[in-house]
Amino acid sequence: MKSLGSIRRDFAPWNDPNAKPYIQFDNVTKKFGDFTAVNNLSLTIFEREFFALLGASGCGKSTLLRMLAGFEEPTAGRILLDGQDLRGIPPYRRPVNMMFQSYALFPHMTVENNIAFGLKQDGMPKPEIASRVAEMLKLVKLEQFAKRKPHQLSGGQRQRVALARSVAKRPKVLLLDEPLGALDKKLREETQFELMDLQQNLGLTFVVVTHDQEEAMTMADRIAIIDKGEVMQVATPAEVYEAPSSRFVAHFVGNVNMFEGKVAERTAKTTRIAGATGAQIVVDNAVDTAAGADIVFAIRPEKIRISSKKPADAVNALEGEVYDIAYLGDMTVYHVRLDDGQMVRASTMNAARIAEDPLSWNDRAWVSFRPDAGVVLTR
Ligand code: ATP
Repeated sequence: MKSLGSIRRDFAPWNDPNAKPYIQFDNVTKKFGDFTAVNNLSLTIFEREFFALLGASGCGKSTLLRMLAGFEEPTAGRILLDGQDLRGIPPYRRPVNMMFQSYALFPHMTVENNIAFGLKQDGMPKPEIASRVAEMLKLVKLEQFAKRKPHQLSGGQRQRVALARSVAKRPKVLLLDEPLGALDKKLREETQFELMDLQQNLGLTFVVVTHDQEEAMTMADRIAIIDKGEVMQVATPAEVYEAPSSRFVAHFVGNVNMFEGKVAERTAKTTRIAGATGAQIVVDNAVDTAAGADIVFAIRPEKIRISSKKPADAVNALEGEVYDIAYLGDMTVYHVRLDDGQMVRASTMNAARIAEDPLSWNDRAWVSFRPDAGVVLTR
């Protein structure tokens, strides 16, 4: 694949055929009575990876995490950690720690005692506890809050205490179930970067559960998109966005326009798609499907250009009328109703303060895009 990759460009063990997976879900099924929460699911996670399980509420992502932590056992299949089958190993004997959605800090204990709690239970000598707690406080930038109690902290600070407590015992793997769910949007964004720094600095493997696609896109090296207990795609954020493997994934991550159609003609270089509503679309020949097959052409709104006149050089240009405009400050989103009835969403960055080609409601408009701007989906 051309230049679709992770931000940590030098970190891609999943592309190395000799790299050994660290965590393996091997045909794992989990049933609760008659209900199948996880269905014959396999996936691998590598050491030092920041891995996100992304899916809608109830898709089974927390169940996966709980099985890895040892709070649930699979009904069938195996979970391996560093080659060892985890079946029957109780949670406290796994090199895994879990940070829960509600941070569950001890309200009567100071920040430092909250962080020290697990270390004391493990019988770590006092001087070592003191130095580990100091190290953790520094890591999460809470040195001056050591003596406070949880109710004297903000939500973001409490979250950092919980994080410090979860990593104090130096687990090899940290599992995070909606770790930022309780924070407001701005704080959540800041904390995402803090979490990434922390993971990098400690060299830990993080597995995070989230239903927030932006959060997964920001933080993770790879994302597994889960639906009804099954993996739909595992890939880097850029691949998931630019090369979704199915309609479900294209819809789930980001906004997308879908043109239903059939393969009308294939040449060595291009494929022409006859849209169900009449539009003709030419795409670079990445289509491994016979003429006549039903497909979907999926294209992201920012890859569509909108203009008042037909661009002279456009391979794909469709005419319609501006139906709706949302001005969002940094960008503007246009909804254009094509003459064949299909609604198209196009977004433009407002790089200049004054628009060059201002369009208004009910104006005639052209939407155009390059042959390589979208993907053809067969599933
Ligand atoms: P959310 O984001 O809402 O936490 P999730 O994707 O993490 O959702 P899970 O908690 O893994 O979902 O649950 C998956 C499905 O399994 C849900 O339909 C849930 O109701 C069901 N389930 C989970 N735990 C149990 C249980 N102990 N008994 C019965 N059903 C359960």
